[in-house]
Amino acid sequence: MLSSKKKYVINGNAGIEAQIQFADQKQEFNKRPTKIGRRSLSRSISQSSTDSYSSAASYTDSSDDETSPRDKQQKNSKGSSDFCVKNIKQAEFGRREIEIAEQEMPALMALRKRAQGEKPLAGAKIVGCTHITAQTAVLMETLGALGAQCRWAACNIYSTLNEVAAALAESGFPVFAWKGESEDDFWWCIDRCVNVEGWQPNMILDDGGDLTHWIYKKYPNMFKKIKGIVEESVTGVHRLYQLSKAGKLCVPAMNVNDSVTKQKFDNLYCCRESILDGFFHETLGTVKISFPEIQAQRGRICLRRNQAQQTRSWVVSASIKAALCRIAPRAPGASPWDPVASVTPLNVLKRTTDMMFGGKQVVVCGYGEVGKGCCAALKAMGSIVYVTEIDPICALQACMDGFRLVKLNEVIRQVDIVITCTGNKNVVTREHLDRMKNSCIVCNMGHSNTEIDVASLRTPELTWERVRSQVDHVIWPDGKRIVLLAEGRLLNLSCSTVPTFVLSITATTQALALIELYNAPEGRYKQDVYLLPKKMDEYVASLHLPTFDAHLTELTDEQAKYLGLNKNGPFKPNYYRY
Ligand code: NAD
Repeated sequence: MLSSKKKYVINGNAGIEAQIQFADQKQEFNKRPTKIGRRSLSRSISQSSTDSYSSAASYTDSSDDETSPRDKQQKNSKGSSDFCVKNIKQAEFGRREIEIAEQEMPALMALRKRAQGEKPLAGAKIVGCTHITAQTAVLMETLGALGAQCRWAACNIYSTLNEVAAALAESGFPVFAWKGESEDDFWWCIDRCVNVEGWQPNMILDDGGDLTHWIYKKYPNMFKKIKGIVEESVTGVHRLYQLSKAGKLCVPAMNVNDSVTKQKFDNLYCCRESILDGFFHETLGTVKISFPEIQAQRGRICLRRNQAQQTRSWVVSASIKAALCRIAPRAPGASPWDPVASVTPLNVLKRTTDMMFGGKQVVVCGYGEVGKGCCAALKAMGSIVYVTEIDPICALQACMDGFRLVKLNEVIRQVDIVITCTGNKNVVTREHLDRMKNSCIVCNMGHSNTEIDVASLRTPELTWERVRSQVDHVIWPDGKRIVLLAEGRLLNLSCSTVPTFVLSITATTQALALIELYNAPEGRYKQDVYLLPKKMDEYVASLHLPTFDAHLTELTDEQAKYLGLNKNGPFKPNYYRY
């Protein structure tokens, strides 16, 4: 029997509409814009959508770069057109990325094996809105193997891996997402997942709360059939607690973000490992390689940069060379070096970039799990790290970890890099941006693009220069320029990779939360927000231990009695903080 310990409910008195800060959305979708119209609507978005700027590798097909996926008629090999992705022809390449991710997601693969014959999600109709990456694909295919039907949209306009979305569409998953959606496309994609004849969702898997909000606003009657919501992000969870407080939450919701296996791993370790990657990637930009430009000679690899047309060479290991060959789809019988794809060899670049973090002054706003991860990575690189906080407990942690606690105003003139990780809004204001020094890099690791007041930079006296995908120079009249990454959207998921193994932990937690809510007997969960039972958290962790060949100590009977524990867990009380 799973416990249903409630978490706190956020206080607030104002009406729910006033309290909940949802992103602006339009009630009607824009009239289909012309190509020019769409581009003028959002210069940067359309530019980024034409770049394959994916995690480890990208396949580009220049023939369709300019056409919006909404204007294309595409079918998968089984004749279905119930999807909207950038280019269905990229499916084979995306499939390889999914296969690589599967290697690092042992728990989901174990769930698939264990479920053979048993379908704990039979009859589940899950509508999802998350980042569409190879790791999400492994989750979706696991949910499918467990008996669920899924329809999916992206929770971020930049983070979709087009080739992965194509692979999912090819396998029959109705996916509506591509990299570089406009705001209008974003809501259109969500609507296409929900508003479909003959299919109605009975479970929601959300990351950020936009999907949940859309259903509340547009199709409130759907909640009659929905058994539960599983929400991943700090931001989305915050919205759910607000709904609950206002008595407007009409189904049970599972707060995955505050599961130990999410918060203490995804937020911390994921950001520790990916923050610098985002910077490295931005610094050098996407290096696209077509295979004739690669010459492997006794452990060296030569790459030609597209833009500069320079040739540089790197010493690479056999495994990187093998990876470069593996990720490109090749026609049967073709040589591994045939010109069939472009790739972004992040691993190679990381080891050869000239970007220097040692001695750079960086201010990190927010010292929660994400901030802690970013600070740890920057400290290890020798950066001088300042932290801003509003909470004295996190502030004290920052001090004890050796960081200088400051107000943003105190250091804004001197720092080289500003990183926001608060989940809050307007942490970096126009006033801060005005005072930054020339070449200061500004970026965000929080979920939504509210932390940096990017809108305040859209004024006539400032010039925007797109220097490469996801990198804008904003230039002041005196020539000062700041470097804005991903237009203030979360850096690592917009511009780089996140470690699959950490995401495996989160994805397993999500899958278990869906199974639990879907199968819970009537009355176990009420219209409120719940945490996943501790025992499930421990189960998720245990499924990942074999990867490290880790040997867990078992309690003796005597020790279990002494501590008052069951030998099989749970091993900690719910209030334990890890
Ligand atoms: P958290 O609540 O643990 O930490 C946020 C911290 O910011 C808190 O300590 C809070 O006191 C502080 N804060 C709030 N307003 C502030 C302000 N004005 N100035 C300074 N500090 C302020 O949350 P978290 O788990 O660290 O997540 C932070 C954000 O990152 C969320 O939006 C979350 O969704 C997102 N996130 C991103 C990733 C990623 O891969 N980039 C991963 C997980 C979570």
